[in-house]
Amino acid sequence: MRFIIRWILNHVPRRTIQRMATWAVPLLGFFYQGRGRECPICGARYRNFVPYGYVKGRNNALCPNCLSLERHRMIWLWMERNTTLFKNHPRLLHIAPEPSLMNHFRENYGSSKDYITADIESPLADQHFDVQNIPLPANSVDVLMCNHLLEHVEDDRRAMQELYRVLKPGGWGIILVPEDREREITYEDDSITDPKERTRLFGQYDHRRVYGRDYDDRLREAGFEVERSDFARRLTEWEKRLYAPGQDDLVIVHKPMPESSDDDQTVKNE
Ligand SMILES: [Zn+2]
Repeated sequence: MRFIIRWILNHVPRRTIQRMATWAVPLLGFFYQGRGRECPICGARYRNFVPYGYVKGRNNALCPNCLSLERHRMIWLWMERNTTLFKNHPRLLHIAPEPSLMNHFRENYGSSKDYITADIESPLADQHFDVQNIPLPANSVDVLMCNHLLEHVEDDRRAMQELYRVLKPGGWGIILVPEDREREITYEDDSITDPKERTRLFGQYDHRRVYGRDYDDRLREAGFEVERSDFARRLTEWEKRLYAPGQDDLVIVHKPMPESSDDDQTVKNE
């Protein structure tokens, strides 16, 4: 199964996969009936999650009901336990929205206009724009969600600056990328455009780079404060087995409040 899914991911155009996934994956769920695993996003239970991955298929990855992957389940659990997002509905900008998270955010936000989805081309998104040039005012959103997108973007530093610009001071976000923590410096080379070479070097045919341990520094350069959490690894063994949330770090960014000008005032008054 792992090999079939890997072959499809690498050979069938993404838009076709997106269309197929809505009926083909739930059908797959039939073969995974059971109760050992539970998706915290949609509540469905299975014997196991479905294997998934472009290069190396990962077992227990994809929820056949809502298409969540490990990182989506991690994000969901973290938000449920550590934020008031699901109760207070802050203005949330979700870029390149993953269907599993998007459908459940939409359900949770109901008729509120404060959940905004955006993608360069996906017909499922409310707005269409390039993350390198976001057509939203500065300081206009409370929360950002932008996962596994920056590795596809030509100028990721500009995209980070744009994300920072639209976030309100005091706001936060989750910005995840595939990371190779063994690597000190991000490896990128724009002259490599051959899909096979990109897969070999960057891990997927449409990736432009593979991020190293300097990823946080790039986010900081844009102005963010960066918090790296081992939330998924700190869950109980029972929760790890039930939810299969992966092992990845959760990268949470914050836009600091402007420094209080009281001190400056004092100095001026003196
Ligand atoms: Zn699910």
